[in-house]
Formats: sequence, structure tokens, C-alpha cells
Amino acid sequence: MKRLRTTAVHGGRDDLADLGVHAPPLDLSTTYPVPDQAAGGRALQDLAEGAAHASSPVYARLHNPTTARFERALAALEGTAAAVAFGSGMAAVTAVVQAACALAGKPHVVAVRPLYGGTDHLLSNGLLGVRTTYAAADRVADAVTPGTGLVVVETPANPNLDLLDIASIVRQAGGAPVVVDNTFATPVLQNPAALGATYVLHSATKYLGGHGDVLGGVVACDEAHAGPLRQVRALTGAVLHPLGGYLLHRGLATLPLRVEAAQRTAVELARRLAAHPGTGLVRHPSLPGADPAGLVGTQLRGPGAVLAFTTREDPAAVVGRLGLVTPAVSLGSVDTLVEHPAALTHRLVPGAEREASGVPANLLRLSVGLEDVEDLWEDLDQALSGPCERNYIKPSSSGPGKLVQTG
Ligand SMILES: *Cc1c(COP(=O)(O)O)cnc(C)c1O
Repeated sequence: MKRLRTTAVHGGRDDLADLGVHAPPLDLSTTYPVPDQAAGGRALQDLAEGAAHASSPVYARLHNPTTARFERALAALEGTAAAVAFGSGMAAVTAVVQAACALAGKPHVVAVRPLYGGTDHLLSNGLLGVRTTYAAADRVADAVTPGTGLVVVETPANPNLDLLDIASIVRQAGGAPVVVDNTFATPVLQNPAALGATYVLHSATKYLGGHGDVLGGVVACDEAHAGPLRQVRALTGAVLHPLGGYLLHRGLATLPLRVEAAQRTAVELARRLAAHPGTGLVRHPSLPGADPAGLVGTQLRGPGAVLAFTTREDPAAVVGRLGLVTPAVSLGSVDTLVEHPAALTHRLVPGAEREASGVPANLLRLSVGLEDVEDLWEDLDQALSGPCERNYIKPSSSGPGKLVQTG
């Protein structure tokens, strides 16, 4: 077992030397010749029943070699036997619910808020035929019943960076499968499977791809749980396009460097934001008081590169004054992104429930990228300082003060 940075660069590339190539080939085939139709039939059956590979991929909805290399690399980084990739993070969440609840005949879910708004809405709206009980992190055991197919948690949570103790959730689940959304931490900072999580889920759209140009999802787990996920993927067609598999595999090589660099900047910005008169509450696991259970340094190897803060002024006005930081949903890209959860990512979570889960209406989420920390700070500082304070030139002895328009 090699160390993290080495695995990030070399994972999933074990067959390249035999193929005589250096970069992983991008296989765009939708179908594969099966001159021996009996052997082709056996391969089709194996893949449809959840096998990781067969004598032929047969058809691209069943298997793709480019995507399979990304899956092997991600599994190596998470320390699991397998990983199964999907067309988006939400397709991955859906497949986990279908495998753990529908296929297992256990239509009850226990979830801890806050969760990514899409996940929250999917679990609440009945689309997947499950009933969801939301529980506090220390009351999960009370909510689990014999009909519970899945326990859903996120840590650090989107969007307010709440931390929860994965080992405690696993204990409370009492044998029910637990999915941990590891999107914010990435395998660089946290490996939930080592703490007993059944499924480790990523919106690969975020840090794994890392450049804001590929939509995908992936679930790392043991082989026994990967089979049903592949079955669901083949039947529902929730596949990742091979170009996405190629780009995600390429993104993994630089994942540790990107996460470590963005995290350093986020720690510094969190410290400065906490001292800024334009902010109220600042949330980042690096800040004093953010980690009462002592999870940073044990469960979580670092505080990560997403932070959140409330604004004294209307958050929309603050966002409107930003110049370098891009106002946009999503996160984990090379560039810094800011968004207003109550208006965008968590819009579909009922307001009272959003507030109760620690996501106030004036909270902004900042995904710190790879820019120079001083340029980011200049932009945030001027946006938080308000138009008057910023542009007001003190009266000179000869005349009245005036407001000047600046960028
Ligand atoms: C974005 C996100 C998702 C959904 O992923 P998509 O790739 O957008 O479908 C799920 N969980 C978390 C924590 C996310 O940030």
C-alpha cells in the first residue's frame, strides 16, 4: 500500500504498461464485438448481475474500461475494495438508496441534517418510495428501526461545515448500512470506510474533477455492496460518460496538492473573516470552538477548503460587490466560488427546517480555490466593507467629503 500522493498519481493505471501506453486510453465505444455469442451472453449476464468486469464489456451501459480505471483509483484512495461511478452525485445518491432500500426491501431512511439540498429534497419528496426520519446526530439510534435500509450523513456538512463523529453514527446504526457523503473532505482528508461506513459517496463534480468541467458521482464500498450498485446502474442507465471517467481519473493525480493548497488559503481566510466587522458567524473546522468533539486531526486530517459565514449586510449585496470570486453554485474547483445557500443550493429545504439545522438565511458558502490568498482577501474585504465605508473619502480641509465610485 503506497502513500496518498503516490496512489493519487498511479492508481488505476496498472494495465497501461501492458497496453504500451502512458496516458489512459479514452474508450468511447458504445458496443463491443462478441463473435462468440455464447461467451458474450455469459459476460452480459455477469455484468448485469453486478460483476466488476467480464470477458467483454458487451455494451457501454454495462461496463467501460476508462471509467473502470477511475473507479479503481478512487477505491485505492478511499481504501475500499471497489468503487462504482455514476453520471452525477445525485445519480450516486439515488443508486445507494435504490440498492440499500428498494433492493433490500427496507424503505426507511434515517438522515442527519444539514445535507446537500438536493439530497435532502430527494429523501423528503417521496420520489424513491422511501420514508425519511431526520434525527439529531446523537439520536440516530432512536430513529433506526428493523425497516431502516440506510442511514445518511454528511461531514463536513454542506453548507455549514458541521462535523459529526462517523464511528458514533455507525455504532448507532446498529448494523443498518451507513452512507457518508465525503464530498467536502475528499479521500485526502477523510476515509469513512475505515471508520465503518458502508458506502463513501462523492459528488465527483467537485474536488475529484477539480476544474469545474465534469459532472459525476462515485461510491466507494466493499465488493458485496458494489455489485447491487452496478446492477442499479446498468438497469437505470445512470452511467458516467467515458469522457467524464477520463477527466475524473486525471483529476485524481493532483487531488492531494489541490486540496492541501486550497486548505492552507481557507485557514487564513477563515481567520481573517472571523475578525472582519462585516461578518457575523464564521464556520470552518479550523476555527476555535468549531470542533468540540476533537475530530480534526483524528477522523478528519485537515479542516478542508470550504467555509461559510453570515454577513451583517444583505448577503446578495456582498456577493454583488465581489470581483475575483465567482458567484456560482458548486465547489471544489481551481477557482474560488461563493453562493447563497438559502437562495440556491438549499432553496428546496423548507425555511424553518433549514434554520433549525444551522443554515441561517444570511449564510454565504465560500469554496476556496488556488488563487493567491492576498488577492482573495482584497476582494472579500472590499465586498464586506460596504459601499459607503469603502468609497467615502474623508473630508479635506478645503471641501466636503465625497463618495467616489470605484470598481
Ligand atoms: C454537489 C453535491 C452533491 C450532488 O452532486 P451532483 O454532482 O451535483 O449531482 C451531493 N452532495 C454534496 C455534498 C454536494 O456538494
